[in-house]
Amino acid sequence: NNRVKIKALLAGDTIGQEVTVMGWVRTFRNNQFIALNDGSTNNNLQIVVELGQLDDATLKRITTGASLRVTGEVVASVGKGQTVEVKAKQLDILGDSDAEKYPLQPKRHSPEFLREIAHLRFRTNTFGAIFRVRHSLAFAVHKFFNEQGFVYLHTPIITSSDAEGAGEMFRVTTLPATNPPLNDDGSVNFKEDFFGKSTNLTVSGQLEGELGAMAFSEIYTFGPTFRAENSNTTRHLAEFWMIEPEMAFYDLEDNMDLAEKFIKYIIQYAMDHNREDLEFLAQRLVEEEKQLPQDKRSELGLIEKLEFVLNNGFERITYTEAIDILLNSPAYKKKKFQYEVKWGIDMQSEHERYLVEKHFKKPVIVTNYPKDIKSFYMRQNDDGKTVAAMDILAPGIGEIVGGSQREERLELLEQRMREMHVPVEEMSWYLDTRRFGTVPHAGFGLGFERIVLFVTGMTNIRDVIAFARTPKNCEF
Ligand code: ATP
Ligand code: MG
Ligand code: MG
Ligand code: MG
Repeated sequence: NNRVKIKALLAGDTIGQEVTVMGWVRTFRNNQFIALNDGSTNNNLQIVVELGQLDDATLKRITTGASLRVTGEVVASVGKGQTVEVKAKQLDILGDSDAEKYPLQPKRHSPEFLREIAHLRFRTNTFGAIFRVRHSLAFAVHKFFNEQGFVYLHTPIITSSDAEGAGEMFRVTTLPATNPPLNDDGSVNFKEDFFGKSTNLTVSGQLEGELGAMAFSEIYTFGPTFRAENSNTTRHLAEFWMIEPEMAFYDLEDNMDLAEKFIKYIIQYAMDHNREDLEFLAQRLVEEEKQLPQDKRSELGLIEKLEFVLNNGFERITYTEAIDILLNSPAYKKKKFQYEVKWGIDMQSEHERYLVEKHFKKPVIVTNYPKDIKSFYMRQNDDGKTVAAMDILAPGIGEIVGGSQREERLELLEQRMREMHVPVEEMSWYLDTRRFGTVPHAGFGLGFERIVLFVTGMTNIRDVIAFARTPKNCEF
């Protein structure tokens, strides 16, 4: 198999070589020109067949969606928008595609429509670009932490701790593959005794991650995370991927510095390696926004927005300052907020987006939240009211990162756990980190799909994950 990928072929100096390419037909014109795509780039490779070279039966089978193997010579192209094309010498059809039934037409489809045909949406330019960018961002996550000397720790998917009451959980039960036992009323009798205790899918790998940090100094997790979010928003999934670094010997400031550096690093990586795809997505956004009134359109294009983020420090404010800004905002005075604003609230996405989009016009890190709206493990500040938390808010989305310095003082931690009804005895394994060589430490969680949303300029989180799980939706 001496197949050449189309991206490499188009980029390289291949004129005069004989190559084999494989891919799917996008279009076929005049019984002569095939636009072939193999998913390595949105740019199609033009395959040229001579008139009379193929019999009529074969020509009829070259339809949109059909898969081909073509061997031929790379020649300079006279066609517009391409430098080279392949003169077919040998052409084989690997798989037919019924043109009448093929759901994708050579036109722009809405993401909503494409969500219904998940198996083919990857073949569109928009989703081709999104998922290549997603791939690069994921690769950059590992590259960044590897360069920083972090250990990649795989925390468990099935857990017995609920980490933080971060959201409703999916319970794990067992069931024989055939003939499940039934209750008297005919419903399935799920067994829950496999682990001898109630178990659920992980909502966060943080607590386990802290144990790793207490030995390796710096670790990160990057894995699937599950929350039975019962609302249909554009930023929540029931199954999403979370990146959770956890670092010994870090305070809140170090934590913020790392998070900002990390976010910029992975964005820069995508800018360096996916320029073409990002430019495609930028253009898509421009087309999309043409339907909006002028004042609703983005001030910056996608590329400019990313460049701006790379070149400017994130704003850093306290929660108390954030609430003051909201209370003094024109939006508040004109009663534009749907949810109440006062010290003590868990900010809603409308509040977060106001801060980043209208007030600061850049990403914002909000610190020192009221302790009553945050988890038990966050380090208490001396004021007795707030904790050393930090959330990073991004334009178009709101929260993308939630993190904190952790409470390393055993007594204060135990006291907080009792106050918040966290079972102290059951979590003895966790408290051991504070019993034996406790150290100041910190960490954060970044929802991977939220950063993919930000970088691709998409607006619905369902469009940046390969197979979205949301309420009433787990078909494919
Ligand atoms: P939100 O306020 O958006 O519900 P959260 O505060 O409940 O988020 P955390 O528990 O702080 O979320 O989790 C850390 C990060 O994980 C969040 O900052 C976000 O990026 C991401 N995240 C949380 N829930 C989801 C979800 N249901 N789908 C996708 N990403 C999520
Ligand atoms: Mg939540
Ligand atoms: Mg939140
Ligand atoms: Mg949060």
